[in-house]
Amino acid sequence: MNVWAFFVNTMDRRFRLIRCCVAFLYLSLHFTDGDVSYLVAEEIKRGTVIGSIAKDLGLGIATLSSRKARIDTDRNDKRYCDISLSNGDLIVTDRIDRESLCGKKATCVLKEELVLENPLELHRISIHVQDINDNAPEFSEDLILFEIRESAIKGAKFPLTEARDADIGSNAVQDYSLQNNEHFTIHVDSAPGGRKRSELVLSKELDREKDNELKLVLTAVDGGSPRRSGTAVIHVIVLDANDNAPVFSQDVYKASLPENSPLDTVVVTVKASDVDTGSNGDITYHFDHMSDDRVSLFSLDHKKGELRLVGSIDYETDTSIELRIRAKDGPGLTSYCSVMIDITDVNDNAPAISLKSLSNPLPENTKPGTEVGIINVQDRDSESNGQVRCSLQQGVPFKLVPSIKNYYSLVSTGQLDREVVSNYNITITATDEGSPPLSSSKSVQLSVADINDNPPVFEEESYSAYVSENNKAGSTLCSVAARDPDWRQNGTVIYSLLAGEVNGAPVSSYVSVNGDTGVIHAVRSFDYEQLRSFKVQVMARDNGSPPLSSNVTVSVFISDVNDNAPQILYPAPEGNSFMTELVPKAAHGGSLVSKVIAVDADSGQNAWLSYQIVKSTDPGLFTIGVHSGEIRTQRDISESDSMKQNLIVSVKDNGQPSLSATCSMYLLISDNLAEVPELKDISYDEKNSKLTSYLIIALVSVSTFFLTFIIIILGVRC
Ligand code: CA
Ligand code: CA
Ligand code: CA
Ligand code: CA
Ligand code: CA
Ligand code: CA
Ligand code: CA
Repeated sequence: MNVWAFFVNTMDRRFRLIRCCVAFLYLSLHFTDGDVSYLVAEEIKRGTVIGSIAKDLGLGIATLSSRKARIDTDRNDKRYCDISLSNGDLIVTDRIDRESLCGKKATCVLKEELVLENPLELHRISIHVQDINDNAPEFSEDLILFEIRESAIKGAKFPLTEARDADIGSNAVQDYSLQNNEHFTIHVDSAPGGRKRSELVLSKELDREKDNELKLVLTAVDGGSPRRSGTAVIHVIVLDANDNAPVFSQDVYKASLPENSPLDTVVVTVKASDVDTGSNGDITYHFDHMSDDRVSLFSLDHKKGELRLVGSIDYETDTSIELRIRAKDGPGLTSYCSVMIDITDVNDNAPAISLKSLSNPLPENTKPGTEVGIINVQDRDSESNGQVRCSLQQGVPFKLVPSIKNYYSLVSTGQLDREVVSNYNITITATDEGSPPLSSSKSVQLSVADINDNPPVFEEESYSAYVSENNKAGSTLCSVAARDPDWRQNGTVIYSLLAGEVNGAPVSSYVSVNGDTGVIHAVRSFDYEQLRSFKVQVMARDNGSPPLSSNVTVSVFISDVNDNAPQILYPAPEGNSFMTELVPKAAHGGSLVSKVIAVDADSGQNAWLSYQIVKSTDPGLFTIGVHSGEIRTQRDISESDSMKQNLIVSVKDNGQPSLSATCSMYLLISDNLAEVPELKDISYDEKNSKLTSYLIIALVSVSTFFLTFIIIILGVRC
């Protein structure tokens, strides 16, 4: 059997070498003990001669038939061959499939027996079935599924399922190959028992974001001739790893936001994307290191990336705001962007007017064009919203002159007069050029300080005072008044008399004036009969520095009082004279016989005299002219009339009350003076001479006064 084994092994190698060109081969081995072996390839055609068994066994072909030669099996197994009785060949009668007969056994032998009768002979036949490559490698599944995380490192190995090949030896799987690809190679090695096994080796890292799956054809080949192969598809599903941070669509987002925008205004929406999947690609947005005051201004929707306004924005505080926003995926990879918010101005500030300086009070003699104040105007807005124009109201003698930058000079434009306008309420209005414009105004109170520019002015051009003679000293004659519109001292009026003379005496001996009230008093009692009128000059002076003054003339008129009784000049008063008038006896009625002459120092009614006979010897004989004082006969003189006639005549003035004087008139009815026995010469009358001297003095006085007056007039003229 050792020799057999060697033979078979040797033959096996030889057959393997030549089987390409030989359809089948057989060997017939003849052993004296009656056993024979053949080598036959599987799947050989029916009818194919395996060997000439009769010859190999040394059996006579002619006897085969008679000896009922036949093939039998040990255990009624299936017969795969039979003997041809005609030529003694062993021929194939059924399909010989090594795989079904022996599986993966390395050797496959069919045991048959050749039976001959008469005499009975039994020969064992061993048919060695040789494998041919009639089976291709086969994978148990067409699709081999792998889930590999993209984070798998280079060199990572993934064992592959083996392919099955029903053939054996070199006809079984000898190698694996993998479709060319950039990520995987295949590593094949031998397992104990000669099997080949393979592993998928990661030669280049995967990137799910580039290819999330791969399909590779895995091929298993056997070593037969021709070679057979089988394939399966390796489906690699690339699992995600968080290898990508979120990426903002822009590094910098720019937005423009008007100040005072309403709350909840969406300022900008930031957007980041993450190519990873699942939570690796779930992005949330957050503020990055933001100060508290900014946090109170904005809110960020963590999911949508909407940046909303939640506070009030003031351009005057910040003209731009920069925020940093962070995008974070589930596991925590982050990236950043900036949001630049340009805040635009809105006209929300009215101009503010401030008074920087003011000359207050302002003297009324300030010249037009003088700078009296400086005004500053500020508007916190910018550009045209902060461009300000200033104006004053109409009707004040001031104007605004633009000066440096936001400063304006308040300049007077006209002559001031405190006495006309003592206070100015100047309204300054500032308006910006925003749309709509805002404006504000400021009132400036400006007082005008007094200058003594007005002299006192008397209310009347001249004054007249009327006073009755015999007034009491100190009585009020009249009052003068002057007005000075200036302020306080400048307008305080003091009255005084101007020096002068009346009748050669200082005027102050006649009148005085109250310096404060302007009331003029008589200093003495006046006598109309001495002085009928006079003029004085009163000065009104203010208390300014220097003082201003003006004068006025006060005419004092003295009126008459009935203080003088009539004075009878003729006849001489009773007792002091003895005068007798002769009345011719032939005098007819109505003849003028005498005249009473009286004077009165008063004037007017006070001096209008009336005459009356109050007593007479013969009341019917004489009559007196009421105003002429002429004594006339009422009727013709008769012989029976008494020669001596006495008349008492009363002379009365017309004053209230009236004053009177009486005199006696002696009449002698006679044609001859010698007839008058008691006639005496008119004696010297002391009273008469006294009166005469009074008259002379009065005349001289009037003349002197007249002359003095002329001299004064001339003096004043000169
Ligand atoms: Ca086979
Ligand atoms: Ca990823
Ligand atoms: Ca503004
Ligand atoms: Ca403004
Ligand atoms: Ca004045
Ligand atoms: Ca003044
Ligand atoms: Ca008088």
